[in-house]
Amino acid sequence: MASLITCPHCGVRPKEEFTIRGDAGPVRPAPEAKFAAWDAYVHSRDNVRGRMAEHWQHSGGCRRWLVVERDTFTHEVHAIVDAAEFARTQAAKPGRKAAAAKPAKAASKGRAKP
Ligand SMILES: [Zn+2]
Repeated sequence: MASLITCPHCGVRPKEEFTIRGDAGPVRPAPEAKFAAWDAYVHSRDNVRGRMAEHWQHSGGCRRWLVVERDTFTHEVHAIVDAAEFARTQAAKPGRKAAAAKPAKAASKGRAKP
């Protein structure tokens, strides 16, 4: 795994300063969404082998949430952006609604076969 992570706010920092939350793709359903939408949001995740976007918190530094795009097989980090910027980018995509949205994926290459 990469031992250094570049926080957009603090610069290059050791990975031990970060806490990984998981997949950044799922979009929180609207409060009035059906049970199935909430069930999928809370419990269903893809087991990606390859590039994926994850939420990481710089818990030992600025405490900001980041979206780190990394390869889950090689652990190579490809991109790091502030989570607020990532959310704005996702919301600006055409046809994107919180209640009906499917999880956004960083990349589709290298997925594990079921
Ligand atoms: Zn930071």
